[in-house]
Amino acid sequence: MNHDFHEPGDMHEPLYVTRPYMPPLAEFIPYLEQIWQNRQLTNAGPFHQQLERELANYLGVEHLALFANGTLALVTALQALRITGEVITTPYSFVATAHSLLWNGIKPVFVDIDSVTLNLDPEKIEAAITPQTTAILPVHVYGRPCGVERIQRIADIYGLKVIYDAAHAFGVNESGGSLLRHGDLSVLSFHATKVFTTFEGGAIVCADAKMKARIDHLKNFGFADEVTVVAPGINAKMNEVQAAFGLLQLRHIDEALAGRQRVDALYRELLKDVPGIHCVPHPDSERHNHSYFPILVGSEYPITRDALYEKLREHSIFARRYFYPLISDFPMYRALPSATHANLANAKSAADAVLCLPIYPDLSTQDVTMVTNFIREA
Ligand SMILES: *Cc1c(COP(=O)(O)O)cnc(C)c1O
Repeated sequence: MNHDFHEPGDMHEPLYVTRPYMPPLAEFIPYLEQIWQNRQLTNAGPFHQQLERELANYLGVEHLALFANGTLALVTALQALRITGEVITTPYSFVATAHSLLWNGIKPVFVDIDSVTLNLDPEKIEAAITPQTTAILPVHVYGRPCGVERIQRIADIYGLKVIYDAAHAFGVNESGGSLLRHGDLSVLSFHATKVFTTFEGGAIVCADAKMKARIDHLKNFGFADEVTVVAPGINAKMNEVQAAFGLLQLRHIDEALAGRQRVDALYRELLKDVPGIHCVPHPDSERHNHSYFPILVGSEYPITRDALYEKLREHSIFARRYFYPLISDFPMYRALPSATHANLANAKSAADAVLCLPIYPDLSTQDVTMVTNFIREA
């Protein structure tokens, strides 16, 4: 008896929700040779400077400051704007969004999401503003644009700063330009799971040179020059190997985005008539990045979201419940008055229904078909 028997269609490598896009190794070697030759490993070296220029140019933004990771970039963005007191944010995100507030001694105030966009609902922001509120920290979830115009109008009325957690929004364009131009600052993540990666990494996008200088000081211990420390800064610098990998990734970014678009279109086609499976619709943005492929598992579907998640796992398909649990359900947040499920009904529904399917540039048509077949068969 062979206990390891698998169905023929089951013989496949495990599928993860995402995999980094790795350009040919041979193309990376010349970068490494240059680093070995000039021996500048970090501290705004030549690749760091080049990547800041090339990314600002590619993304269509004024200034961009590279970081060791996205979380340090978020923490530093709040420092750069001297945010204190209370900040309005979304519970439907990766936990780093709210953690960046706690690291700054700021109280998160959770506001519910819109049930269609899954982003912070602009209509619910005003009711959460108090005399302590200093900023709004929305997230462009799955790279789908927030209601940026409405959020800015509210911020202007109440004198609030706006910091976008744009960790999912690399390369997203809308209404004639980069989504990253909105708000006072936007923060990117270049973690290995993101559309554009530098192993670990991140950036703050800003509009003026003075702010860029302040951010550059803050990420380097507060040094303004060799003998001048202007702020209690942190060490959040990106090193030269990371920056070099970013330059190489950037050379391949358009083919990577095209690959994601192909996978996205295929999923939509293959899942369009599966009862109870709702693909989160595309935003109307001019250029989307297909950073995730979220589906909502409805009550018409024969099994629960968690049962589908387990079933896929049994077949070595590691879909992820992004975002579940809600940030507001974690122990360091759940006692906050704004963390109650009554306050966050749409976020709770989304967290209970969502499943992000594998998507990355070189995911094969055969694998996408296999994933959707398992979903159909339930
Ligand atoms: C990935 C991510 C972060 C954190 O970025 P790191 O680079 O992993 O520190 C923050 N917010 C959101 C929404 C993310 O998805």
